[in-house]
Amino acid sequence: MSVLFSKKIEDIVEKIDFSKIKGKVGIKVHFGEKGNKTYLRPEIAKAVYDKISSLGHEVDLIECNVLYRGSRTNREDHVKTAKEHGFGFATINILDGDFGDSAIELPVVNGTLERAKIGEGIKDYDSILVLSHFKGHVASGFGGAFKNLGMGLGSRSGKLHMHSDVSPSIEKELCTSCKVCVENCDFDAINIIEEKAEINSELCSGCAMCIAVCKFGAVKIPWGGSTNKQLQEKIVDYSKVIIDYLDENLFYINVLENITEDCDCVGKKMTPIVDDIGILSSSDPVALEKASLDLAGEKFAKINSVESEYMLEYAEKLGLGSGKYELVK
Ligand code: SF4
Ligand code: SF4
Repeated sequence: MSVLFSKKIEDIVEKIDFSKIKGKVGIKVHFGEKGNKTYLRPEIAKAVYDKISSLGHEVDLIECNVLYRGSRTNREDHVKTAKEHGFGFATINILDGDFGDSAIELPVVNGTLERAKIGEGIKDYDSILVLSHFKGHVASGFGGAFKNLGMGLGSRSGKLHMHSDVSPSIEKELCTSCKVCVENCDFDAINIIEEKAEINSELCSGCAMCIAVCKFGAVKIPWGGSTNKQLQEKIVDYSKVIIDYLDENLFYINVLENITEDCDCVGKKMTPIVDDIGILSSSDPVALEKASLDLAGEKFAKINSVESEYMLEYAEKLGLGSGKYELVK
């Protein structure tokens, strides 16, 4: 499969075959956590937005809320952060709603999971362009197209589902007994016992609402609840669900600039670890990710102990593409 390569986004969007793009288009981006300085340049998103709009399509920037408490935990804060980061040129649609709890459950065909929880607003789109800033990630090895698509469009409960098979828990020293989590748990899974919240894992559905509403950071996310390989598989399962749902009407661009060790969810300034490389695009996400990893090279491959290529082997097994590619400059 061919992978387009250029230093300029204008070259890339001119060469992509958009003949199959249809209807309303969502450009899936990551706006960067407040304090992060190396997220996707909004000028790149604008160039993609302008090109697709010029073809006569209605185009939005799309995202879902994050799992942890930060500047993108609810729709209002998320859109505010996106605008502060330069993405105010288009309509910003947060697909899992005001508080991350609007989701549709879709079946995973042939994956390790049975179902995936995707931001409900996906129903409004006919095509998605996955525009990803390529960088490292402590648990999945790297963040590119699959991470942007699968993890990114999981609703908050979907994100918890990918990160862990166990329920959140309470850090008792931080709990003030304010009961906000109790009032917001639709599953009656939280009780106040001896002035501290306690989660009954038998009743917990994994909706992650308590994580979003606790202002004191007392609800702990069970980050280590999936192994790195399980996380990689779940990210690909979630991606596959979306690819199937949209009948493969997806387009992919990876931006290999400002490549940092950690992802754009980190709300601080980070120093890139390899020189800027350029911009890649392919209709095959496996080929695109493989070419991105190859170009990022040895230094990038050594940034953490996660076997990045496992995610691509698994994606290939699910029929999402092939790691064999030809780079077209
Ligand atoms: S919202 Fe947080 S501080 Fe309040 S009771 Fe629940 S865990 Fe404790
Ligand atoms: S994750 Fe959802 S169901 Fe579980 S305790 Fe928190 S609010 Fe309740």
